[in-house]
Amino acid sequence: MRNRLKDTPVIGRKRVLLAAPRGYCAGVDRAVIAVEKALEHYGSPVYVRKQIVHNVHVVSTLEQQGAIFVDEVDEVPEGSHIVFSAHGVAPSVVAGAEARALQTIDATCPLVTKVHREAVRFAKQEQHIILIGHAGHEEVEGTMGHALDRTTLVQNPDEVDLLEIDDPDNLVWLSQTTLSVDETMETVRRLRERFPNIQNPPSDDICYATQNRQVAIKKVAKDADLVIVVGSANSSNSVRLVEVALEYGAKAAYRVDYSSEIQQEWLDGVETVGVTSGASVPEVLVDEVLAELSDAGYLDVGEVKTAEEDLMFSLPKELRKDSSGNEDARALGGRTR
Ligand code: SF4
Repeated sequence: MRNRLKDTPVIGRKRVLLAAPRGYCAGVDRAVIAVEKALEHYGSPVYVRKQIVHNVHVVSTLEQQGAIFVDEVDEVPEGSHIVFSAHGVAPSVVAGAEARALQTIDATCPLVTKVHREAVRFAKQEQHIILIGHAGHEEVEGTMGHALDRTTLVQNPDEVDLLEIDDPDNLVWLSQTTLSVDETMETVRRLRERFPNIQNPPSDDICYATQNRQVAIKKVAKDADLVIVVGSANSSNSVRLVEVALEYGAKAAYRVDYSSEIQQEWLDGVETVGVTSGASVPEVLVDEVLAELSDAGYLDVGEVKTAEEDLMFSLPKELRKDSSGNEDARALGGRTR
């Protein structure tokens, strides 16, 4: 539905600042292609545990193609194909799938798997892990499941004061991949204040895509009267982009799944609109937002680019060949869009 928004006058020049990088990261691209290829290889239905990525449009598109999304493996008929989502799973989920003889395709993002490996290693070394992340998020459940007895969750800086730790000299912190970089660093600062000997992870757990999208929106936000973030409500990195935009100077910031959610009153007196999208958002949804904004007189679109991204991940091994046995053109995980 177009032409909903009116082109109302403002004092200055109407323009859009489009943040880059935005949208699909390598882990999401790989996970979505994994479901598409699984449908091509095995036919419908292919089951997917949880949302493959946190985006309503992506999930409904895959549903139309024959994917069935379930919450747990015990909902899946024995022997069926199941894809694990980009957010990863706990070992107990893998065991549950094996018990039902499910044919598993693991689309866990390799950067989440890296955190799982760190958790396993630190647990083996009998260290205690402080995991910075949000309770109930699938990635947090998966990571905690790799070192259940040795992990304590901290959701924000204030929760550090509530921690009760038996062996404060034997601690290491890890984090969810999609957090606010600034807030996480504040949580770490507070951890270090209370536990001076806490060890850092070997490398950043907040992933390159989360970090890059936050850097770009910071630059856009300082000049924006309004920031629109395209992304779903359960997408951690999308919700963080709204918070970061507000923190870094945007006068207002809203998250939308679809362009039809943009409200006319958001645009009252607005000269500069910043636009970005979370790591699970296909570019077509951003194009629709730009089209609606152009109806409202925001025709001048300039990109604010703070990084180049060219990372790609190999597809899960079961899916690297097409049905004739040839290497699939998408086997490196890249997508032309
Ligand atoms: S947001 Fe980061 S961790 Fe999550 S799928 Fe994308 S690259 Fe992987």
